[in-house]
Amino acid sequence: MALIVQKFGGTSVADVDRIRNVAARVKVSHDAGNQVVVVVSARSGVTNELVGRAKALNPKPDEREMDMLLSVGEQETIALTAMALHALGVPAVSRTGREAGILTDPVHTRARITRISGGDIREQLESGKVVILAGFQGHSPDGQITTLGRGGSDLSAIAIAAALQADLCQICTDVDGVYTADPRIVPTARKLDEIAYEEMLELASSGSKVMQNRAVEFARKFNVVFEVRSSFNNNPGTIVKEEVASMEDVVVSGVALDKNQARIVVSELPDQPGTAARLFQSIANAGVSVDMIVQNIGRDGKANMTFTVPRDDVSRAQEGIASAFAASDGVLFESSDIAKVSVVGVGMRSHSGVAATLFDALAAAKVNIQLVSTSEIKISVGINPEDAEEATRIVHSAFQLDTASESS
Ligand code: ADP
Ligand code: ASP
Ligand code: MG
Repeated sequence: MALIVQKFGGTSVADVDRIRNVAARVKVSHDAGNQVVVVVSARSGVTNELVGRAKALNPKPDEREMDMLLSVGEQETIALTAMALHALGVPAVSRTGREAGILTDPVHTRARITRISGGDIREQLESGKVVILAGFQGHSPDGQITTLGRGGSDLSAIAIAAALQADLCQICTDVDGVYTADPRIVPTARKLDEIAYEEMLELASSGSKVMQNRAVEFARKFNVVFEVRSSFNNNPGTIVKEEVASMEDVVVSGVALDKNQARIVVSELPDQPGTAARLFQSIANAGVSVDMIVQNIGRDGKANMTFTVPRDDVSRAQEGIASAFAASDGVLFESSDIAKVSVVGVGMRSHSGVAATLFDALAAAKVNIQLVSTSEIKISVGINPEDAEEATRIVHSAFQLDTASESS
């Protein structure tokens, strides 16, 4: 007998037929004698719909009320999933994040998990019941509902698997596993049998929404090996785990595209020590993370700074900057949409020439590169959003990741 955590995402529970399908799959695991914890998301589209309603009523909704609202989506699906299991004769009980003792910090809409007691989950499993846990939600020390950031049901699943020391953690979704690129954008993308935490983390942080980046970070920290697989078939998925030596043989494992970035140019900054610190401190204080940064060489005592932020954070960043410089400083601010294409691979540590191949491929396709950033295992370029999908396909081919090139 094993303890299995199975997470089903929004499209997997999108309507009653799909919920029935999830129940049937869970029944198979339960009938085989396993203890099963099921983590579910809100039905696909529900969380976005709730965000839309909140913003229609108030462009800057209170974050505590936002969590009260958004946690509703998952509460609908846990109850429906329990009912679907009952209809199949499987004993099952639903639990909210609070009932499962998922304690977080009090930072609404992006809370971090601090401790998991599990509530009565173990007892329920011992008594033969399937436990259905609401993803994406927890509670703060003073009992308020918190949510774990968009895509946070992945984190709920990994965290409960770690807390219960589950034997198996499966992230069941609408693709067969982790591919070398988003298969919706790159039809020739290949499914990976396995991927290292670090690579999965870089892909997730660079726009591959197949896994929430914080969930991967948590899995790496607590060494939770997990599998990303389909909710709709039994094909083997992708195992995400600690790096093994042979993974370095592959230079680039995947390509990610993030279409939701913005480029900010701050000009007429005083060209003197401390300006960059003041600028980026003001943005950090506004709770915005900055990614690629380019500083132009100063001229006539003035300098420009160009960087990227998530598109939804542009106005917060602008407010932060405005608070750090007096109007008399004459600092100018402009922003435009940008897309980020990233190539990721642990093999980059031991192979050279990745940047050259990437830039060559983009040059041949006449794609202009606006910004570049690198890490030990990743190179990202900021480009015009209109070029982004085509550029992703070109880069994917340039690193011989296409299905057709597998045998060559
Ligand atoms: P869920 O609702 O199950 O959490 P998501 O929509 O959050 O599912 O994530 C699955 C989607 O991630 C896929 O439908 C796919 O379009 C996208 N995706 C992006 N990058 C990748 C990748 N490298 N491999 C697989 N899927 C990817
Ligand atoms: N329902 C939440 C979201 O849409 C959490 C999740 O689906 O993982 O972000
Ligand atoms: Mg998701």
